[in-house]
Amino acid sequence: MQIYSTQDKSLRVTMREAVLQGMPATGGLYMPVQIPEMSGQFFSALPERALPEIALGIAGKFFADEIPTDMLESIVHDAINFDAPVVPIKENIHTLELFHGPTLAFKDFGARFMARVMAYFTQKQDEDLTILVATSGDTGSAVASGFLGVESIRVIILYPKNKVSRIQEKQFTTLGQNITALEIDGTFDDCQRLVKSAFTNKALNEQIRLSSANSINIARLIPQTFYYFHAFGQIRQQTDKPVIISVPSGNYGNLTAGLIAKKMGLPIKRFIAASNTNDVVPVYLHTGNFKPRPSVETISNAMDVGDPSNFQRMLELYDHDIAKIRNDIAGLSYDDEITRQAIREVYSETGYLMDPHGSVGFLALQDYLEYEDNSIGIFLETAHPAKFLETVQPLVNSEVRIPNRLQQALERKKKSVSLSNEFDEFREFLLA
Ligand SMILES: *Cc1c(COP(=O)(O)O)cnc(C)c1O
Repeated sequence: MQIYSTQDKSLRVTMREAVLQGMPATGGLYMPVQIPEMSGQFFSALPERALPEIALGIAGKFFADEIPTDMLESIVHDAINFDAPVVPIKENIHTLELFHGPTLAFKDFGARFMARVMAYFTQKQDEDLTILVATSGDTGSAVASGFLGVESIRVIILYPKNKVSRIQEKQFTTLGQNITALEIDGTFDDCQRLVKSAFTNKALNEQIRLSSANSINIARLIPQTFYYFHAFGQIRQQTDKPVIISVPSGNYGNLTAGLIAKKMGLPIKRFIAASNTNDVVPVYLHTGNFKPRPSVETISNAMDVGDPSNFQRMLELYDHDIAKIRNDIAGLSYDDEITRQAIREVYSETGYLMDPHGSVGFLALQDYLEYEDNSIGIFLETAHPAKFLETVQPLVNSEVRIPNRLQQALERKKKSVSLSNEFDEFREFLLA
């Protein structure tokens, strides 16, 4: 598959190069030159198919010329080894639960798939690959768990001391094997700076092979299209109504994957870009002006992004034509108070407990459906509510159940290496 850069339209690389490099050296983001379309037969079989089967059909369109079929099959089955069920909430509103993976958030789909694809693409090289990730919480756990036990790849997670939740810290500091957590005496920005300095340090890059696993890697985006097809198939078992999907968004990777699915032929009537008060994309959809600004803290903290990087990809998919974009995407935003209130109300009315991110998606969907009453809506539940215990527990009067796989992480012993925020110390650690 040919991949180009949003910054330089004439650039062409293979999927392998795009995955191993993460992003073009000259800036911009990688995108497929041609988005493949799925056949009519594929769509008519969707309602009967299981998620891994659907995933393999789609992955083949992107990877078949660079990964042999039997290998791709084992990558897909290994990576997508948990379900994404559509669950009814109230009339015309369903949720697509994306938290059944090992770290209880949708990032498991992207991270697990990317880890296995990277391992395949590097296996012919005799040198090990070191993946560096700076995290403020959720990305670290999904990436660490995604790469756990993957041969010839070591993963170094940098996180700011005392600035991630206890649950998040346990999820990426207790794994061992090829995963090492570095507790940096500094902020998230310090962690990011250390990673960036490592990538741009010529001498260091001659000694070890470094790569990144951040959210802009194309190999994280493609597996996120799988569950949109699966969700549509599940809805078609029940109704023929037009389908609206609401996506709680921060860096807009998840929504971009949905837009790619639509371009592949998936007949979604409209997407909703649901945001917290970091609402630069909804503002763009209303005013036509895209004005990045510093992020503000909210209770849906994985969506606290002031300059979403996947916005470039959204523009590319619609030839930078805002009329076309508005035709497919509506934008709505909500503050913390309304988000909390919705968690409380939906729980007391239906017994379903949403997490703060899902709650933003729910609110946007509910408001949107006021004007589209013959449609059926799905909002994405991007994380399990127990991951945000401090926020959700006070909103409900019964005890929030902590899933086993989270409980097990909480009981394991934290293992991390403490470092200052000085680059020299970090470099010595990498070379040791
Ligand atoms: C990362 C994340 C989001 C935001 O997804 P984007 O693809 O960055 O828009 C939403 N919810 C949760 C729980 C997340 O971890």
